Amino acid sequence: MPFPAPMPITADDDAIRAALDQAVLPPLLPALAHATGDLSLLRPELRPDPLLLGDPTGGLTPAQESAIRALALDVLIRYRDGGCRLAPAPSHADLEEIMAFAVGGLPMGEYVPLLAEELSITGEDLRAPGWRADEVAPGVAFRVAIIGAGMSGLLAAYRLQQVGIPFVIVEKNDEVGGTWWENTYPGCRVDNPNHLYSYSFAQKDDWPQHYSTQEALFEYFRAFADEHDLRRHVRFDTEVRSVTFDDATSTWALQVRSADGSEETIEANAVVSAVGQLNRPLMPDIPGIDTFEGPWFHSARWDHGVDLRGKRVAVIGTGASAAQFIPIVAEEAGELLVFQRTPNWLGPTPDYHEDVSDGLRWLYTHVPFYSQWHRFWIFWRTADGVLPGVTVDPAWEPRDRSVSPLNEEIRVLMAMYLELEFADRPDLLAKVMPSYPPAAKRVIRDNGVWARTLKRDDVQLLTEGIAEVTPRGVRTVDGQEHPVDVIVYGTGFQASHFLEPMRVTGRGGVDLHQQWGGDARAYLGVTVPGFPNLFCLYGPNTNIVINGSIIYFSECGVRYILGLLRLVLEGGHRAVDVRRDVHDAFNERVDAQNRMMAWGASAVNSWYKSASGRVSQNWPFTLLEYWQWTKAPDPADYALLD
Ligand code: NAP
Repeated sequence: MPFPAPMPITADDDAIRAALDQAVLPPLLPALAHATGDLSLLRPELRPDPLLLGDPTGGLTPAQESAIRALALDVLIRYRDGGCRLAPAPSHADLEEIMAFAVGGLPMGEYVPLLAEELSITGEDLRAPGWRADEVAPGVAFRVAIIGAGMSGLLAAYRLQQVGIPFVIVEKNDEVGGTWWENTYPGCRVDNPNHLYSYSFAQKDDWPQHYSTQEALFEYFRAFADEHDLRRHVRFDTEVRSVTFDDATSTWALQVRSADGSEETIEANAVVSAVGQLNRPLMPDIPGIDTFEGPWFHSARWDHGVDLRGKRVAVIGTGASAAQFIPIVAEEAGELLVFQRTPNWLGPTPDYHEDVSDGLRWLYTHVPFYSQWHRFWIFWRTADGVLPGVTVDPAWEPRDRSVSPLNEEIRVLMAMYLELEFADRPDLLAKVMPSYPPAAKRVIRDNGVWARTLKRDDVQLLTEGIAEVTPRGVRTVDGQEHPVDVIVYGTGFQASHFLEPMRVTGRGGVDLHQQWGGDARAYLGVTVPGFPNLFCLYGPNTNIVINGSIIYFSECGVRYILGLLRLVLEGGHRAVDVRRDVHDAFNERVDAQNRMMAWGASAVNSWYKSASGRVSQNWPFTLLEYWQWTKAPDPADYALLD
């Protein structure tokens, strides 16, 4: 069961009151309305403000917050005293009304079925495939190879196990967990609220923190693999070198290399690439990197053997990874030099490093549906609810610093935050203030730690630009050499090099990377014309800039892939190949819409763009649209190979 039944409330009034003091309030009345069937609890005067959805408190005033707590206390006492009985399940119309309230009165009809799944509102896994391979294609031998045992690969494996299609997972590491296994840099944590960052069918209401650390995330995926006995399907320490389609048999051959250097071929009818976008570290193209005589490493390959205590350390890069480890390195190092090329917008997040309080955890486990409605609240306020704030208004000029009136409002608020944080350091403020629109690059979460770190006497923020790395340190373009003992590269990943360095050969011997020409494209991020039965997860244009959970995309993608496999098996076919015209028309839509988003309209550099400047990473539409378009494949979009 994705969700255990709520525990009965036996606590006294004071204990309930104390727990409510620690509640996240916007989802509270929706949960209580759901549990009791009393929709009159959704009082208009206690509704969150739709314009302040980005704010975790939904813009509720202290008076509104007190009123919500008082109302909730009253309802929970009656619920307890009445024997903790739940009202019958809400109707579609009721759910729509509850959702609409939670998001400040916006129309939510289309979201009801999506969110029923995403929240596991009935307690069931509503995304479970619901079919078996041996029923739709009895006696047919069909095997899938999954590349990667991270979040997406484990998910694909779990679903294939449910339908009874045999599979093998090929994993280059010696453990599952992907990015949550590889990234062990100090301070590594999920920067999306954790309560949303879990599979919809394996939600967790006891995360230690609101943004849990790498250890907790790794443990979640490790436990998932163990619980579902997926580990026995994994070929660890094995790297896929090439995948090649055989036109005669419509099968794939994976050339793999084990850690001992031995090579072999694995045959499969279909291949799921679950290699992630942020997997291969990017070393910057700075002259002299190899000449440095001290230790150096990339953040995704943190060398824990290098003792930073008392050392003079350079960090190159200030992106999402670096922003997490710089404050910790600053505490250890004797002196820290931070080389920043482009400043970040910071999203104020007071609970970024906080533990989930006992009161909040009590509410999750005792107040029926509260945990799910909190998940909904995060889903909405970090994704579709804030999309209008990052979409271009064609009438809005100038575009270089904001893309719409709403985006400008966000810019002003974020600028005010920086001004407050750096009020006593105008020298630093000038360096940390971005000049591009919010969400043109990823917004970094902050609880004050960035300013505190940069203001330290033993930290320097250098923005001159790097000319070269020398044997002794880093030389900036002003000619000054900065001697250091250690260099840490927080320079990100080769994100636009999808599926590299694997060689992928499709129909007629066509090379995937040549076909892409540095600009990866896929239909719905999943299928590529000329590469039958090759399916991508977290593929081209399925990344999200505002912080919804990428797990959502993988769940939608896996469902779509299983739909395609069913099409193949049920029809007695061997493979599906997406029609080129369908793929091209889709990508034109994606490109057009990405140009209408802050990250596509702005000229600022980012890992969202390929070398040509095209946004090859990001999904520019709503999460609802991805769900609708991937719910089931349209057979008309595909050629079926026999
Ligand atoms: P990133 O966002 O690509 O940041 C790379 C940093 O290195 C940027 O500051 C970049 O500057 C700088 N840089 C790159 N090449 C440089 C050069 N030649 N000279 C000087 N500076 C250079 O990489 P990341 O921080 O690893 O994050 C990548 C993505 O991973 C994030 O956007 C996020 O999606 C994900 N992530 C998630 C989490 C989480 O949830 N826990 C944590 C970390 C990362 P420019 O900005 O000028 O390019």
